Amino acid sequence: MPFVLGGLIIALIVVLIFMKTGGKNGDDTDMKTNTVNSDITEEEKPDKKTEKDSTEDTEKKDEKADKSTASDDQISDVDDQAPEPADVLEPESTEAEPETEPETEPETEEVEPTPSPTPTPIAVEFEDKDDYIETKSDVNLRVGPSTDTDIFENLQTAKRLKRTGYNKDWTRVIYKDTECYIYTPLVTGTFDEPTEDGNAAGGKQEGTAVLSTGVGTPNGHIVCIDPGHQTHGNNDKEPLGPGSSEMKAKVSSGTSGNVSGLPEYKLNLTVSLKLRDELIARGYTVVMTREINDVDISNSERAKIAADAGAQAFIRIHANSASDTSVNGVETICMTSENKYNSELYTASRSLSDSILNHVTSNTGAKKRYVWETDTMTGINWAEVPVTILEMGYMSNKDEEAKLIDDDYQNRIVLGIADGIDEFFK
Ligand SMILES: [Zn+2]
Repeated sequence: MPFVLGGLIIALIVVLIFMKTGGKNGDDTDMKTNTVNSDITEEEKPDKKTEKDSTEDTEKKDEKADKSTASDDQISDVDDQAPEPADVLEPESTEAEPETEPETEPETEEVEPTPSPTPTPIAVEFEDKDDYIETKSDVNLRVGPSTDTDIFENLQTAKRLKRTGYNKDWTRVIYKDTECYIYTPLVTGTFDEPTEDGNAAGGKQEGTAVLSTGVGTPNGHIVCIDPGHQTHGNNDKEPLGPGSSEMKAKVSSGTSGNVSGLPEYKLNLTVSLKLRDELIARGYTVVMTREINDVDISNSERAKIAADAGAQAFIRIHANSASDTSVNGVETICMTSENKYNSELYTASRSLSDSILNHVTSNTGAKKRYVWETDTMTGINWAEVPVTILEMGYMSNKDEEAKLIDDDYQNRIVLGIADGIDEFFK
């Protein structure tokens, strides 16, 4: 009996132990394992997500950092030594912190900004400038105001260039007749005048705005001669006058001889170069808007060359044409006394036009037509000094064309113009 009792007790204890540990433990473990597993899975997913997100954020951050330190990049870019900014990666540690909260996962995805397709927004506000700058010895001239744009040319020596725009990051200049951009901190100074260096560098086109002083006793007068037109006209538009909304082609290609086929721009240059030499011999300082045919100077730019040179007379040399081939003779042109832009120059311009017309016709025997007063000429409206256009004769008229291309006749025209200019300054 005690044996049986002892056995029962042992059996009871065994059952109790079994119930307490074995069965229950098994269920719990399973459940727990499941829970733990699912927990881990749930946690791992967001962790990976968050990590991935933060990586993308970091990349974006890097982009942002690149943008915000664009100036630094630009310096290094231009200097050809590109030290990576060391602090660019700093912000990502703060960005990576929130990843411990899985619930934020969907929000993060919603908040995540889509990458902008435009790589580099550029501040393109420029203050208009009309002067000259000098560059440091080694700068990149870029085609746009950003280091993302192509390099137009790398300047190895300091140059003086025409400046047309400025902001604290970028300076807009004209180089080789092309609009380029220089990182502003690489600009070392600003100037009112182009130097010869700057001219050579392309501050202006080769063969344009050429200043000549002469062999004669200086008479103190500066005259600007503008040989009309150029090899190729430029149909881009420019304002008819300062502040005008009316636009006109920058410069046309001119007429040509009916018989000879000689283009007007060539005749104009031939006579203008003769006039230059004659004026220099008489003691004038002469600035030529162009000394070659293949240039691209608008009519307003020609007027600006005269003004910039401090010319006291702006003589524009042209030849005429008409559908009626019998028409011939000489005209000069100036503004009206009511001109909106520079009527203050009317009296002097009219006087210049009269004296040149008189002397050219008396020297050549050509028909004296008239002084045409008109406000439709861009190069007159932009003039800042007394101006006249001389129409030397009609290339559409066979007889007059033959004279105009004759060397001796040209010389007589030139002496007439020079006499007219002398009279104007008396
Ligand atoms: Zn013309």
